[in-house]
Amino acid sequence: MSSQNQSLFERAQRLIPGGVNSPVRAFCSVGGTPPFITKGKGARIWDADGKSYLDYVGSWGPLILGHARPEVVAAVQRAAADGLSFGAPVEMEIELAETLCRLVPSLDMVRLVSSGTEATMSAIRLARGFTGRDLLVKFEGCYHGHSDSLLVKAGSGLLTLGNPSSAGVPADLARHTLVLPYNDANAVADTFRRHGETIAAAIVEPVAGNMNLVAPKPGFLAALREETERHGSVLIFDEVMTGFRVGPQSAQGLFGVTPDLSTFGKVIGGGMPLAAFGGRRDIMAHIAPLGPVYQAGTLSGNPVAVAAGLATLRLVAAPGFHETLSARAARLCEGLTRAARQHGVSFCARNVGGMFGLYFAPECPDDFASVLASDREAFNRFFHAMLSSGHYFAPSAFEAGFVSIAHTEGDIDATIAAASAWFAARTA
Ligand SMILES: *Cc1c(COP(=O)(O)O)cnc(C)c1O
Repeated sequence: MSSQNQSLFERAQRLIPGGVNSPVRAFCSVGGTPPFITKGKGARIWDADGKSYLDYVGSWGPLILGHARPEVVAAVQRAAADGLSFGAPVEMEIELAETLCRLVPSLDMVRLVSSGTEATMSAIRLARGFTGRDLLVKFEGCYHGHSDSLLVKAGSGLLTLGNPSSAGVPADLARHTLVLPYNDANAVADTFRRHGETIAAAIVEPVAGNMNLVAPKPGFLAALREETERHGSVLIFDEVMTGFRVGPQSAQGLFGVTPDLSTFGKVIGGGMPLAAFGGRRDIMAHIAPLGPVYQAGTLSGNPVAVAAGLATLRLVAAPGFHETLSARAARLCEGLTRAARQHGVSFCARNVGGMFGLYFAPECPDDFASVLASDREAFNRFFHAMLSSGHYFAPSAFEAGFVSIAHTEGDIDATIAAASAWFAARTA
């Protein structure tokens, strides 16, 4: 890749491990130099060499309205002019809590934090404090942020780098995490039969988006609901990615399964560092200062971040928003699949609301093992071909993609045409 990106990457690597502040950005699995981004507007981003791309990463999920949406930027500017942080309550925090609780019926109360990692880590501590139990059930290939208990057989960057369990997690801690195969209701029933009385919580991505995209099989989430309820364990839906991304009430509304606690991030901050956890009032009442489970944050509920979140949710909650977003993502997936089939390429794509998965496999996978079996070499070649034709997809076969409301049908069709040309050349 050309000069500016290359020289910035070399400069970054001298002082920042791998040249990046989050591992998947480094292009380790696809190879090559990551473009350094200078600007974003709508569905497009520009790099340091002035090249522009249609962006299907959207900052890994938050940018459901596209880049630099004027209403969001204005809200941030207004808030910033009145001061960046107070470490004291502000009225906008109540408005955001009211908005979240109104949009998602399972939320009686919420606490705002600054990252998805904090939200899931805190929800798990809360579930353990509430039940007085230690064991945690999670699913293989699901990623819930980088706190210790959750870095066991996780997805996202860990999976991309080929080591799904992190070094540096004490064996004593990992011992409290039981890892089950995603979409396996029998494994859930079996585990709860044996350990149910000691399981504090089960945490799941209701649509798995950190091992590419794996949708829940019919009945899987309901089985998890039934087993946790029967054994007095807390069911946590990690909706950091799916929250307001797959539907107006998030994945829990789409699939009609009600968790005890939920975590949100990404979309609810509109591109600023903001996340939340919330749920049943009797459980949330165990959080300090009401209860004995400690949780805090200097910048929690930061007014600038809250302003961005409120402005974003206001637009996302508009009637018809998710229908349009979903239709765009479906158009992309159907178009890509049709083009690949036409040229005899083993490929499949699927969307759930505004998130999608691309697989170099004959069928869309519904478990972790099938995701692993997809052709990663083909993905890497596709990725680079698309990047050079100005289409920025996630640099890993283990990440979901995102469409924003700023992507026009014309943008999507241009992307399909570019992919189609590559599929054709490949089989020529
Ligand atoms: C992104 C993500 C997280 C972590 O959020 P951060 O803000 O990166 O800490 C947790 N859970 C899921 C499902 C995610 O997609």
